[in-house]
Amino acid sequence: MNTQRKTMIVGNWKEHLNVSQSSLLIHRLHERIKTHRSVEVVLAPTMLALQPLSVQIDRRKFRLAAQNAYHIDEGAFTGEVSFSMLQDLVHYGIIGHSDRRNKFNENLDEVCSKVAAAVRNNIMPILCVGESQTEKLAGETNRVIHDQVVTALANVTAKEVQSMVIAYEPVWALSSGTDFMHHATPKPDEILSAINIIRHNVKELYGVSAASSIRVLYGGSVNASSAYDLLNIKGLDGLLVGGASLNYHEFSGIVDAAFRKQQEEA
Ligand code: PEP
Repeated sequence: MNTQRKTMIVGNWKEHLNVSQSSLLIHRLHERIKTHRSVEVVLAPTMLALQPLSVQIDRRKFRLAAQNAYHIDEGAFTGEVSFSMLQDLVHYGIIGHSDRRNKFNENLDEVCSKVAAAVRNNIMPILCVGESQTEKLAGETNRVIHDQVVTALANVTAKEVQSMVIAYEPVWALSSGTDFMHHATPKPDEILSAINIIRHNVKELYGVSAASSIRVLYGGSVNASSAYDLLNIKGLDGLLVGGASLNYHEFSGIVDAAFRKQQEEA
């Protein structure tokens, strides 16, 4: 981990937990997680819970992220919520998650528009990239990461890219629902290689300073037992957690692992 880049642990609750269940989980996490100035803990609950949780959370401990939003700020788009409407509620927006790319057919252009919309509204993108099983077997991992990074960042400036977060999430390693204990995870070398490719692509586009400033996370079946070793991977700045973030023992264990790691390095 790089001391300039604050370690980040993100919990993506996906389409789980209603407002009161979300509030209860935050309460439990608040009891277990200490204030760690060196570790940023970000929670992405259902859109409905963002407003009440923005009032409930201890802002020294937690930040909120939207799981998705629409790229046009305002208009006749029935059912949509824009990044501009979320401005006061969230610090981050998850963009390009494979659930959205694969289940809602979000293409590279839409991801690019969403990144620009988030940045325009002072919401920091957490851009998810990663190859499918078929692409991995076809040896296309580097190309997929390249295409997803390069197109997503096409409409933002080098300065804006600097504070962005990119999460490497190989689709084949993501658990479905809460089955986070039984799933394939990539080897540390594979994660290291993806981190290097992401930074290399950002460097080619926006220079060394942007490439060394962005934070790169790993996501895919992370749990409290795997977190510490994953955080040892060079250049990795944190973890994006799905299934295990719904379990307060697991998620607070992951945050603890990040904090222990930070303390050892201090
Ligand atoms: C995710 O879907 O972003 C994710 C990281 O899920 P999981 O941890 O359950 O693999």
